[in-house]
Amino acid sequence: MAKLLEGKTIALKIQEGIRQEVRSLGFTPVLAGIITGENSASETYVESQRKIAKGLGIDYQLHKMKADIPEEELVAFIEKLNADKLVNGIIVLMPLAPRIDRKKVIRSISPDKDAEGIHPANIGRVLLGKARIVPCTASAVMELLGYTGIGLYGKEVVVVGWSEIVGKPVACLLLEKLATVSICHIGTSEAGDLEEYVRRAEVLVVAVGKAGLIKGEWIKQGAVVIDVGINRIGGKLVGDVDFEKAQERASYITPVPGGVGPLTVTMLMRNLVESARFQGKLQG
Ligand code: NDP
Repeated sequence: MAKLLEGKTIALKIQEGIRQEVRSLGFTPVLAGIITGENSASETYVESQRKIAKGLGIDYQLHKMKADIPEEELVAFIEKLNADKLVNGIIVLMPLAPRIDRKKVIRSISPDKDAEGIHPANIGRVLLGKARIVPCTASAVMELLGYTGIGLYGKEVVVVGWSEIVGKPVACLLLEKLATVSICHIGTSEAGDLEEYVRRAEVLVVAVGKAGLIKGEWIKQGAVVIDVGINRIGGKLVGDVDFEKAQERASYITPVPGGVGPLTVTMLMRNLVESARFQGKLQG
């Protein structure tokens, strides 16, 4: 039976280190959150960010914008925060209204204040192996893998999903460790090859958003399974992997909820502190 990779427990340990780093900064780092309109899921997420930030000594400043804010106004507000020396990091809560160009908004955040690590410059640095700020979910996955103690060098790793903020950066970070990485996507599934790839994975990372996509019997005996997916089925949250059967075969597995999720917020705070340290140095 697999050991559970409980994100919350691991997050608490990492938070202790972040708290010490905040103390060593000599000033209170500020994270600015921007929320547009009313969205209960975003508000819940903001609350959890705010609580964790407070516990770490980070000042979380929430800016509530009206739902019909014009794109230019939102971008102008972000640019104001970029120029504000007292703000160290910025996060824009998704989703934005469909009329707003999400990519344009993300690009308007200064890469040095991009707490989520999703600005193209930061994602590009991940590709080059020179990242200072890494997309939060990708670094949460790497933390969980680190926690298992398994060496990634030469391991057969399969990443399912190739989104810009999860699948692709995770694959790049795994490649940096000299794992042998296969990336699967809709093309793999439609070619009927997904099962074959998953069956040979010693480490499997799934970030798709389709419940039951990965069958438990496909999991290689002793594999490490990181399930990033979040799906709401009948009021219950589940991942992309058939957890019950998979845990009988895996050596380690993340539960959903309680696996990757709690660590993602912690990685956001780590990025913020890293940004604050960098900006502190620049200001001399
Ligand atoms: P996206 O929708 O951006 O990406 C999903 C990816 O899955 C795409 O690359 C898509 O490939 C691929 N895909 C779709 N269908 C299949 C299939 N049948 N077989 C193989 N691949 C497929 O989602 P995200 O990457 O942003 O998020 C993925 C999941 O992770 C979601 O459930 C999300 O809620 C969750 N998530 C969880 C976080 C956490 O902290 N726990 C944080 C971020 C996300 P293609 O483009 O080729 O169709």
